[in-house]
Amino acid sequence: MDLKSGYPFWAVKNGLLKTFPQLTRDHQSEVVVIGGGITGALIADELSRHGHHVVVLERRDARVEEKAEGLARKVEELLPKLDINLTFSWGGTFAETDDGLPFFGPHEEHGPRVQFAMAYGGNGISYSMIGAKLLRELIEGREHPLAALFSFQRLKL
Ligand SMILES: Cc1cc2nc3c(=O)[nH]c(=O)nc-3n(C[C@H](O)[C@H](O)[C@H](O)COP(=O)(O)OP(=O)(O)OC[C@H]3O[C@@H](n4cnc5c(N)ncnc54)[C@H](O)[C@@H]3O)c2cc1C
Repeated sequence: MDLKSGYPFWAVKNGLLKTFPQLTRDHQSEVVVIGGGITGALIADELSRHGHHVVVLERRDARVEEKAEGLARKVEELLPKLDINLTFSWGGTFAETDDGLPFFGPHEEHGPRVQFAMAYGGNGISYSMIGAKLLRELIEGREHPLAALFSFQRLKL
């Protein structure tokens, strides 16, 4: 495998990443997932495996490329002999709660039809899988044993 090809490892290993169409017309869907990071992808996968119709809306931070270029220039200043070739840039918001647990579920200001998955600190890879299963249960109108633990309601305790 040519790890210096300029493509991310997974694209080299599994083939080029898919491209996704732009949203150019109205769509109807049972569930709309906003954000196509690991959380959005896992939630969409979990729901669609269980027969739900899901649309994922992803809008990358318009300033990611500009910020990545700025970082690359700073590294070049520090290490002028380094040949920097940006292949992919990504930005993440790091939000953390006082008790260190994320939030999964509805917020009273937005009603039961809007579900949140957020505030992982540095542990979103682990938590997002729990969240995907938990949110599916809530969307399907069932209880989940961890729902109270990750609920916004715990702030009131
Ligand atoms: C350096 C680093 C190391 C880490 N190490 C670990 C680790 O070891 N273990 C671990 O569990 N976690 C780790 N994490 C945390 C983990 O990577 C994140 O918690 C996780 O990737 C968050 O995933 P997410 O899908 O919730 O958010 P994101 O990956 O941020 O995805 C959100 C998506 O929503 C999109 N979006 C934003 N606004 C809109 C909008 N208005 N409309 C549509 N789309 C929108 C964004 O473009 C983005 O693609 C690490 C993070 C960093 C930065």
